[in-house]
Amino acid sequence: MKVYKIDYLVQKDRVRKDVFVEIGKDGKIIGIQKEFNGDYDVIKGLVLPGFQNAHSHCFQYAMAGMAEIHSTVNEPDDFWSWRDSMYKIALQISPEQLESVATMLYSEMLRFGYTEVAEFHYLHHDKNGQAYSNLSEMGERLMAAAQKVGMKITLIPIFYQKGGFGKEVTEGQKRFLSPDSDKYLELVESSRKSAEKYSKAKVVKGIHSLRAVDEKSLQNVLKTKESELPLHIHISEQLKEVEECQAFYGARPVEWLMDNFDVNENYHLVHATHLTDSEVSSIAKSKASVVLCPSTEGNLGDGIFPLREFQSKRGRWSIGTDSHIGLQFMEELRILDYGQRLISHKRNTFYSQEQGNSGFYSLEQSIFNGRKAMGRDTENFFEIGEDFDAVVVDLAHPLLFMSNPELKLTTNLFSMDQTSIKEVYVAGERLVTGGMHNQIDSIWMDFAKTMDELKFRLS
Ligand SMILES: [Zn+2]
Repeated sequence: MKVYKIDYLVQKDRVRKDVFVEIGKDGKIIGIQKEFNGDYDVIKGLVLPGFQNAHSHCFQYAMAGMAEIHSTVNEPDDFWSWRDSMYKIALQISPEQLESVATMLYSEMLRFGYTEVAEFHYLHHDKNGQAYSNLSEMGERLMAAAQKVGMKITLIPIFYQKGGFGKEVTEGQKRFLSPDSDKYLELVESSRKSAEKYSKAKVVKGIHSLRAVDEKSLQNVLKTKESELPLHIHISEQLKEVEECQAFYGARPVEWLMDNFDVNENYHLVHATHLTDSEVSSIAKSKASVVLCPSTEGNLGDGIFPLREFQSKRGRWSIGTDSHIGLQFMEELRILDYGQRLISHKRNTFYSQEQGNSGFYSLEQSIFNGRKAMGRDTENFFEIGEDFDAVVVDLAHPLLFMSNPELKLTTNLFSMDQTSIKEVYVAGERLVTGGMHNQIDSIWMDFAKTMDELKFRLS
C-alpha cells in the first residue's frame, strides 16, 4: 500500500485541500480521507483526474503539420485533399513503424496528461491490402506501444467496407477494408485474443462512418450485446458527407442513424458537426455522447459543433485529439469554448443549471463521458475502487499560486498549457516526472530511426 498526502485534490464539485489518498498494490484507490496515521509521501500541486482521449488515429501523428504547405491559392485544399495526403502515409507504414510512432505518441499523450486513449483503428492490412497472418497485427502493435509507456488503451478495430455511399473502394483505402460483417467480426475476435496479453488494453467495436459500411452489414454489427459496448462511429463531419447521405438514404446521417437504430448512452458519435435542431435534440435525448476533436475539426475546416444548443438540452460530450495536430487538453477545451463565444457573442459556454464553474463543468463532461467511451462508468474523479490516474499541475506559476482552490482550476484551464503539468500517474505508478516521460530517451531514439526510414517528414 502507498499513501499520498495531496495539496489540492480536484473532485467533481470541489477542490479538497490536504487529503490523504491510499492506493493498493494494484494501483486502485482504497481510501480518501482527511487524517492518516503512518508513513506517507507528499504530492505537491493541484491534482486533476487523468484526461481521457476519446478519439485517436495514431498513424496520423506522423503527418501532423505536413499538410500546411498549400500548393497554390487557386487549388482547393480541404478535408478531402488532406485525406489524400493521409492515405499516402497510411499506405507506407509497417507494423514496426506503427508501433514506434504509437510509442512516441502515447508517451507524449501521457506527458500532456492523458492517461487513457480510445484508438479508432482502421489500418488493418499489409501494404498490398492483404490480411497479416495475425489478423490483428497492426492493432496489437498499438496495444504493445500503449503497454510499453503505461497508457491505458481501448482499441476499436474499425469496420471499413466501402469507398463512400454506394461507391467502390479506392487504392488508398485498401489497408482498411473488411469485405463483410463476418470478416470484420473475425478481426474483432482476433483483436480480443491479442488484448489478453496486455493488462492495459481492451477492445470494443466501431464503424468508420455511414458512408463506409452498407446498411445490411451495419445492422449485423450494431446488433451488439450489452457486454460489447461502447460503440464508436464518425458521423456528420463534413457537409459533403451530409449531402451524399441525403442523396443515398434520403435522410441526414444522424437523422438516419436515429431512425434505424436504438442509439443509446453507449454510443459515441465522433464529430457530429453538422446538425439540425431536431438532430441536436435527438442525440441529447438518446444520451449518446458526442466526441469533439476541436483542434482537428478546426484544422480540417469541418465546422463548429452547436454546443450551446446541445448543452441546453443536457447533451453529453467528451474530447479526442483525432489527427493529433494538437495534443494539449486545455487547448482543446479552450478552442471548443472560444468557438462558441465567437459565434454567440456570449461568454458562458461551459455551464449547467447545477454548475457555473467552467473548470468543473468541462472536466465533468470530458472525464465522465470520456470514461464511458472506454466502457466504464464513474461518479467522481477520484473514488474508492478506481485506479489512481492523476495529473499533477505545478503551482509554482504566480497566477496559480496566488489563487483560491476553485480559481486555480479555471486559471489552469484558461491561462496554462501542458508545461504546467509536472507529474502523471496511471494506476498509482508515476510515469511522468518533471514534465517528461520516464522512458523518453529510448522512445526518442526509436522514433528518430523510424522517421528516418519513413523519410516523408525529412525529404
Ligand atoms: Zn477520426
